[in-house]
Amino acid sequence: MAAKVNHNFSMLSESYLFSEVARRVAAFEKAHPEREIIRMGIGDVTRPLPPVIVEAMVHASEEMGDSATFRGYGPEQGYPFLREAVRGYYRRSGVELDVDEIFISDGAKSDLGNIGDIFDPACSVLVTDPVYPVYLDTSIMSGRKVSYAAATRENHFRPAPPDPERDADGNPVYPDLIFLCSPNNPTGAAMNRKELSDWVCYAKEHGSVILFDAAYECFIDETETEGGGIPHSIYEIPGAKSCAIEFCSLSKKAGFTGLRCGYTVIPKELRLDGISLRDLWFRRQSTRFNGASYITQRAAEAVFTEEGEKAVQENLRYYRENAAILAGMLDDCGIYYTGGKHSPYIWMECRPPVKMAASGSQENLPCTSWDFFDRLLQEVGVVGTPGSGFGTAGEGYIRLTAFSTREKTETAAERLLKYFR
Ligand code: PLP
Repeated sequence: MAAKVNHNFSMLSESYLFSEVARRVAAFEKAHPEREIIRMGIGDVTRPLPPVIVEAMVHASEEMGDSATFRGYGPEQGYPFLREAVRGYYRRSGVELDVDEIFISDGAKSDLGNIGDIFDPACSVLVTDPVYPVYLDTSIMSGRKVSYAAATRENHFRPAPPDPERDADGNPVYPDLIFLCSPNNPTGAAMNRKELSDWVCYAKEHGSVILFDAAYECFIDETETEGGGIPHSIYEIPGAKSCAIEFCSLSKKAGFTGLRCGYTVIPKELRLDGISLRDLWFRRQSTRFNGASYITQRAAEAVFTEEGEKAVQENLRYYRENAAILAGMLDDCGIYYTGGKHSPYIWMECRPPVKMAASGSQENLPCTSWDFFDRLLQEVGVVGTPGSGFGTAGEGYIRLTAFSTREKTETAAERLLKYFR
């Protein structure tokens, strides 16, 4: 037999979202070089690393240049000093973990994409719609059957476990793997304790495993009380340790998008057919991964020190204030949105103003994500990310982010306020 390609790749939809955004912006800039465009679609951070983290890297680099302290290959699961630091971080949320339940990664994206390796290829997947594309595309690449839980305005973009699909005989069919992301990218919606508990109960009842992406947990506002508050970790929910894997990242929390470091937690209680998923992941990582770099892990360790935590919170406060500026503007304009709180993302309804010819009055009428994208670009000089690019249920919405500079965020908010009013 000759070599064959993985034909599952042909099932992927064209990943044209960000390239199409870039193409339209470039075309507009070429036609209107005098206009200043503000990019509010970026998902990358803009604040530099705090000095305490840089110092940790400098020190680690010097260690690497000294024969007495040089390090070669490290443990694939991460150095004990960092796993201990992560363990201490969980303890603050009341979650007790063993160090060997924590796996240090080179960021959450690779682990989210690779986790499927430890499950049977026949396992089906449930994702929310709209969705962070990595869950969907990696599931499709593996040939898995995918179903969707629609996140809509009616459920506040925090969908509950859906009714089961039915097989040919009318028997209920439940998903085997469930990707959840809270606070969510792209919608910014954050599930409260009650809502997350419903998912945990559902998973336990039907033998599903929740793959919980906590990449934005650092944005959670502790003062929230509705529904029992917003959990930082799914393991704050009783019973979650036997049905959930958690992924986290230092990318948005501490500006590690370029450095690359995250962690994945698989509790020992999590067993399928008597087999520990932690053990399978250990085996998988030992075989396919050689660990994040020593220098990066020392930088990550600094994030969890008292000084590091303080510096990181400074940057987070900056982004939170940006989000509040955008959210306040939308409140003033009476435009529906989610996020802006507990999240760097603002997911707003596409309602451009339309002047009524006869009366001269103005009404905001709904339109598609791409039409709204074009209007914001051309009429306001602000770039968002069209919601339809994250799934069909994202149609009619656009995502703005709080990762820009304060100056640009304020200018964008002023322009949008003038536009909508
Ligand atoms: N999960 C979500 C929901 C994200 O939005 C992102 C990055 O944008 C990631 C994971 C990836 O994080 P990392 O940079 O650690 O790979």
